[in-house]
Amino acid sequence: GRSMASEKDAALAPVPNDNPTIFDKIIKKEIPSTVVYEDEKVLAFRDINPQAPTHIVIIPKVKDGLTGLSKAEERHVEILGCLLYAAKVIAKQEGLEDGYRIVINDGPSGCQSVYHIHVHLLGGRQMNWPPG
Ligand code: C5P
Repeated sequence: GRSMASEKDAALAPVPNDNPTIFDKIIKKEIPSTVVYEDEKVLAFRDINPQAPTHIVIIPKVKDGLTGLSKAEERHVEILGCLLYAAKVIAKQEGLEDGYRIVINDGPSGCQSVYHIHVHLLGGRQMNWPPG
């Protein structure tokens, strides 16, 4: 996998913006992904660069300006709840009975690299605190 330095480089490279991202292509099935959960509003797939035995990315199918959590408005409250609830459902589906970690990276300092809001679900190993 990528080193911590290159993960950070990837996050620091783009200027945050509302342009279409690679996740739009995943939603349209223009590029392959391993989907583990899908409903009307939410899509979840296995991270291509997993940081834990279970590493799933959970996204809204419609971005609606929600490039990251810091851009959330009142109208996004429902989809934010849907993303978090999907994380819980998927964690159970993945058998993460002992616990798991939910992460939302925001902005360059948060190491966000894709500007389409997403929740990371990580599990299957002991997580550490504080995160890097
Ligand atoms: O929080 P951050 O923006 O860094 O997360 C983006 C995540 O999307 C990364 O963990 C990256 O591995 C994942 N990704 C993916 N499939 C792609 C592009 C990115 O799973 N085609």
